[in-house]
Amino acid sequence: MARVYNWQIGREMSYWYPESRPQKQFAAVFDTNKCIACQTCTLACKTTWTSGKGQEYMLWNNVESKPYGFYPLAWDLKLLEMLNGGKWNGKAYEGQTIFESAPAGERVLGWRPEQQDYAYPNCGEDDCAGQVDHGAGIAMPHMNWFFYLARICNHCTYPGCLASCPRGSIYKRPEDGIVLVDQSRCRGYQECVRGCPYKKVFYNAMTGTSEKCIACFPKIEQGIQPQCFVNCIGKIRLAGFISRPEKAIPDNPIDYLVHIRKVALPLFPQFGLEPNIYYIPPIHVPFSFTRQLFGPGTDEAVKTYRNASNDPDLSSLLCLFGSSEMVMPRWKRQGDTAIGLDEKGKPLVSVPRTEPVHIRPARDPLYQITRTNCP
Ligand code: SF4
Ligand code: SF4
Repeated sequence: MARVYNWQIGREMSYWYPESRPQKQFAAVFDTNKCIACQTCTLACKTTWTSGKGQEYMLWNNVESKPYGFYPLAWDLKLLEMLNGGKWNGKAYEGQTIFESAPAGERVLGWRPEQQDYAYPNCGEDDCAGQVDHGAGIAMPHMNWFFYLARICNHCTYPGCLASCPRGSIYKRPEDGIVLVDQSRCRGYQECVRGCPYKKVFYNAMTGTSEKCIACFPKIEQGIQPQCFVNCIGKIRLAGFISRPEKAIPDNPIDYLVHIRKVALPLFPQFGLEPNIYYIPPIHVPFSFTRQLFGPGTDEAVKTYRNASNDPDLSSLLCLFGSSEMVMPRWKRQGDTAIGLDEKGKPLVSVPRTEPVHIRPARDPLYQITRTNCP
């Protein structure tokens, strides 16, 4: 085991391979507050990459309702129970990661789901925490809650799948940090399925190999965001590249949200993989729940997000989500307009921070009609 630095848990940790960061790291921010669970992302991925034989049950992208939704069943609960807790001391995690708590002779603390665990992708959908009394559903504020968690492979800095593969079939691309399974090397041992705590590697019984989200790398290579991003109805997603915290660049949108404003957080950082999909936590969910999912930065992230309407820079950048199919490695704000830029600073898209409102006259002389303007 090597010693590597994981900034998300604020300390060094043990990992199977020495630290080797890519030239650029693919990353993304998902705003959980905007997801409507329409599953368009799921279908955009399914119809693009997993419509073949043996892939029927595969959802490289899935959206689950928390607290009771899981795909596969209880993926997170099971590992949390195996890890047996673990405390944070400020920004540093004092518990053990899945690499540090691996049983003797194994590389990762993991488990392999049963076939049945994949049978209910919509389990717990729209189920809220606690009992809703008759009529309480339409009362504001809701006293009970749920939220939607969209998930893809995190293209982790320290992937559990890669560490657990005995054949060395999984690799992290040096040019963009995307994690892939080499189909010609894989022999289907499924150690990666066992070792990925997010359960984002799937075994294909028809090909006898494991498969996973490829971050639509053919699109990323052309500067275009992945399928699940560009098809997202709620415009909750923004793809890009992330720097190390000490090298954060303010006009890199992902760096700005993750490192500078700290409004987007990793999913289960305590697992120790340094995952690269970051989440703006839901603002209506008790911190006792969201802290477990997103770590100790949750309270501050929610406070910052709640104040976004008084924060021109942050609210401008949030308007760039879902505004272009192109990856926007840079951005700037000009007055009340957010502008997404390419690497050389050329504008790709501009979006007003405040949506203009046009109220049409009630009487239209051209068409000789009377309209009802609903406020
Ligand atoms: S989320 Fe899972 S499959 Fe994706 S890189 Fe991390 S460990 Fe591997
Ligand atoms: S397409 Fe977007 S809004 Fe719809 S479920 Fe997926 S992430 Fe949520």
